[in-house]
Amino acid sequence: MTSSQPLELLAPLSGVLLALDKVPDPAFSSRLVGDGLCLDPTSSVLCAPLAGTVSNIQDSGHAVSITDDQGVQVLLHVGLDTVNLAGKGFTRLVVDGQRVEAGQPLIEFDADYIALHARSLLTLMLVVSGEPFTVLADDGSLVQQAQPVLRVALQAGEQQAQEEEGEALFTRPLMLPNANGLHARPAAVLAQAAKGFKASICLHKGAESANAKSLVAIMALQTSQGDAVQVSAAGEDAEAALAALTALLLEGCGEVVNLVVEEQQVVADPEQETLLRGVCASPGSAFGQVVQVVEPELSISESGVGQALERAALDRALQAAELALQAMQAKAGSAAQAEIFRAHQELLEDPTLLEQAHQLLAEGKSAAFAWNRATQATGALFQGLGSALLAERSADLTDVGQRVLKLILGVTDSAWTLPEQAILVAEQLTPSQTASLDPDKVLGFVTVGGGATSHVAILARALGLPAICGVPASVLALADGTQVLLDADKGELHLSPDPAAIERQRIDRQQQGLRRAQDLQQAQAPAITRDGHRIEVTANVASQQETQQSVELGGEGVGLLRSEFLYLDRNRAPSPQEQADTYSAIAQALGPERNLVVRTLDVGGDKPLAYVPMAAEQNPFLGLRGIRLCLERPQLLREQFRAILASAGQARLHIMLPMVSLLSELRQARKILQEEAHALGLANLPKLGIMIEVPSAALMADVFAPEVDFFSIGTNDLTQYTLAMDRDHPRLAGQADSFHPAVLRLIATTVKAAHAHGKWVGVCGALASESLAVPVLLGLGVDELSVSVPLIPTIKARVREMDLQDCQQLARQVLGLEEADQVREALRGYQARDVETSLAVEG
Ligand code: PEP
Ligand code: MG
Repeated sequence: MTSSQPLELLAPLSGVLLALDKVPDPAFSSRLVGDGLCLDPTSSVLCAPLAGTVSNIQDSGHAVSITDDQGVQVLLHVGLDTVNLAGKGFTRLVVDGQRVEAGQPLIEFDADYIALHARSLLTLMLVVSGEPFTVLADDGSLVQQAQPVLRVALQAGEQQAQEEEGEALFTRPLMLPNANGLHARPAAVLAQAAKGFKASICLHKGAESANAKSLVAIMALQTSQGDAVQVSAAGEDAEAALAALTALLLEGCGEVVNLVVEEQQVVADPEQETLLRGVCASPGSAFGQVVQVVEPELSISESGVGQALERAALDRALQAAELALQAMQAKAGSAAQAEIFRAHQELLEDPTLLEQAHQLLAEGKSAAFAWNRATQATGALFQGLGSALLAERSADLTDVGQRVLKLILGVTDSAWTLPEQAILVAEQLTPSQTASLDPDKVLGFVTVGGGATSHVAILARALGLPAICGVPASVLALADGTQVLLDADKGELHLSPDPAAIERQRIDRQQQGLRRAQDLQQAQAPAITRDGHRIEVTANVASQQETQQSVELGGEGVGLLRSEFLYLDRNRAPSPQEQADTYSAIAQALGPERNLVVRTLDVGGDKPLAYVPMAAEQNPFLGLRGIRLCLERPQLLREQFRAILASAGQARLHIMLPMVSLLSELRQARKILQEEAHALGLANLPKLGIMIEVPSAALMADVFAPEVDFFSIGTNDLTQYTLAMDRDHPRLAGQADSFHPAVLRLIATTVKAAHAHGKWVGVCGALASESLAVPVLLGLGVDELSVSVPLIPTIKARVREMDLQDCQQLARQVLGLEEADQVREALRGYQARDVETSLAVEG
């Protein structure tokens, strides 16, 4: 070992220097996390102490690690116990994988807020890669940001730790009990323990892996409480390592852990459990055998063989991926599928992504390394923005990333050799995996990750495959071949189904198939109840292709065009002409006799639009969402009104405002619409209505009614805001039920107020697509049901089985019930009686 040029680390901020021994936190004072120094800050922007790459910035923004080109790794940790602030008070100025210069700002923090809400503001700078150093300033002295404070002695030619050979052994997945995941302190405890073994040890979270002996690598996994992790080890003491590290992880790696999670872990043991619950991503049921989906590990070497060659390799792979995605678009079975592959193609051209990759190529990295690092950094950025929807889009990015990476490495995806009747189980499926599933072999799937709004869920619905997501991670420990019953409607996976339940499921499926065929035959007939009351059944759409499909399936118009979905994956705003063309094409697909209800942009909450940048919000669902955002940026609304108005006359045009909670919002929007219509010389305004999805709007429906042409009830949001339960929360999914009498009472209030003023009411939330809900919605007086496209024939058929007077009586009865379960039970009872009556009539 020979020593070379020393490296000077700059003070990351101004403040009073303190020796680590004085830090009132044993994890730091004992140097468990690493050796270095502490500063009591007098400035509030944390800057890079050396040039290098951001190897990890924590989602919570309180810690960041920089690794320089010689492997020196420095961890900066602002304050003590600041992980508990969950990001509040911190603004991240860099992203994972980014190159930074010495002195470049990394994190801005609100010193007052942190001083008031965390244990201490003391900030640590630790050389976690372990090189020896000397401190250049005196204990207790005031140092200025960018002043050299540590001299690190670099050690040239140091031996890399020998990789242990041999087959890797894996633990079963276990759930992390730490309230804030493996942040600096527990990560240090784990890394320290792992270093005590000779075996090569990795910690895995889904498809990501980290060297378990590296504190920074563990932190970079950005784990959270409840995450399923696995440990693998290879080498002579692998078994002992796995046993010790499993115990340590379950104990919380030195942190006091929450007993609730420990209890859940016990309950979630698949050997003791017979039922696992998740959220319905796509309805239906299936009985089959478990097939665990495991992605192969790809080996990526960091350094390249020359910039020109590596650049050519990346370009070739990008072109091949482009062609493959084009082909997949062309043979996509549905508009939703095609749309997703088009979005993937856009990601391939994303300038920021390519810029990052090219930068890394210029630094001598291999094409595979550069591409992988760039997609990971962008994915982490999506994940870290605090939006469920963008986090789901990061799954798309991972998908595209893997596609290109495999092309660079020449790894061909061996077609899945699946047994018959497979029920796939995975941490997460990628959209392309989902789209390429063979419905003849795959009966359904179950994932730990994902949400009901993810692309994977959309694809599952398009393929007609039952699927549930948000299932406990213990599902990953089920053995291949285990026979399970998937009841996606109820969000349940039965692990030891009894023969009677299996038989019931088989008969149900058979009957559903027969019914579907009958419903399809009658799809074009109107939906008129047995006693002659007509209900309009329209479609919820997000594209022109879906509109076309809806007409083919008997849709009587579009009750909800989710306009934000038209451009959700775009990073550039569509031009006014492009917008106008889109609305006109959709209107033409419907023709002048059918309603087209265009909802203005419902951006914010779980639906960010890349080209409408918004500040991160603490409670996005309660923040600048829907009409609130559009009124803050009236230019956006004006432009959209203009584009929609261009399609006037091609269909029966209606404009609908989302998330209205105040009368003033309706009035302001109407004024803008009038101005735009006037500017275009239009004599007649199109119909203007609002969505009823906030309790204030439902309760004040009598005040809104005189000023609108129609209402459409968004039961998805109305349920979340009435019950105060996040609509995508996996653990609340069972309770956030639109059948709750509180939601039904608000629907009743809305309909009464609207009809008193001669206005019509639709329901466009998911409740309208539920067969079980049809009698109660009819009984409450709803005039239009706007449903997801494949369900149009089913809902129309169900209306034809109803008798309005019976429905009215049923509605009165269920409004008096106490809970959603009671409502469902009453409706099931009615459905069973109804089937008996129709059989008797037919017989
Ligand atoms: C709803 O909230 O019910 C609705 C139809 O709107 P979205 O699902 O698009 O929020
Ligand atoms: Mg809504």
